Amino acid sequence: MTGPGPSTVACRNCGALNEAGFGHCIRCNRPLGDAEPADKARRRVPAKRRRKGPGALTGPGAEPFLGRFPAEQLPGVKLFIMLNAMVFALQLMGALTRGADVGSVVGSSGGAYEAFLYGAMPKWRFMAGYSPLAEPWRMLSACFVHYGILHIGMNMYGLLQLSRLVEPALGTVRYIIVYVVSGILGYATSLAWALLPFVDGGMSGGASGAVFGIFGAVAGLLWRQGNAAWKGYALRILGSFALLAVLPFGLDNAAHFGGMVTGALLGAALSGGAPRPSTGWQRALAYLLLLACVAAIVAPRFSPYYPLMLEFIGRRAQS
Ligand SMILES: [Zn+2]
Repeated sequence: MTGPGPSTVACRNCGALNEAGFGHCIRCNRPLGDAEPADKARRRVPAKRRRKGPGALTGPGAEPFLGRFPAEQLPGVKLFIMLNAMVFALQLMGALTRGADVGSVVGSSGGAYEAFLYGAMPKWRFMAGYSPLAEPWRMLSACFVHYGILHIGMNMYGLLQLSRLVEPALGTVRYIIVYVVSGILGYATSLAWALLPFVDGGMSGGASGAVFGIFGAVAGLLWRQGNAAWKGYALRILGSFALLAVLPFGLDNAAHFGGMVTGALLGAALSGGAPRPSTGWQRALAYLLLLACVAAIVAPRFSPYYPLMLEFIGRRAQS
């Protein structure tokens, strides 16, 4: 996944991070002609002014999250990275206490029981006697479960790079909405796709649907502002999708696709083309979604399907 590279520049008007190729600022839509390299701008702005103060890195209308955390400090993405890391740590500890092979959880394909225990989503034909409809909240909990250190590492790296553009541009409240809704609809797409008889539905987990949502949001934001750079960015997103789709890793490409489309639509819908404070219903929705994330992380512990899962992996180990 390609995030902003060394070509990032800071807008002189609002301080938002941009890619040099955008031409106009992704947040305030002013021309970036005189923008300076992002690292240079950051060195020049005194730390105090960076946190608050007019102009600097807190742009017009982008209010701090919960009244305290400016979007430039990325409170939203930090929160999601924390939740993902927490669930991964729980998976490792779960494998340790069960006496299972921890290496397989750190590695890649193993740890199916721990993945299920902490929220991964089995699809229709994964195991007899289980239907995803029985536990629809797994469409959200699966967003926080990863298969191996490389999987979570890549997802979190891509997420951080993309969020440096999107969170300050949308504001943290709308960023949270895009992330969570893209994640859920990514797995909804994955379930719908797996209804097709020729699709081999396994168990799914990972933040990549949500990450693709944030990726798509960049194109949606640029499009809504009438910024011609949206076409080039959309091609880049489709290129990344295609690249991951041809890799032989058994990735959940349907989830990537659903997340990407959702993120692009939400990015366009929620951006007003100019920075402005979040509305009351947007704040209410964002807080509700965060609560849902916490509930979805806790919920799998109460699933009645563990005996079935244990039996299933036991059978698979014997065969
Ligand atoms: Zn700007």
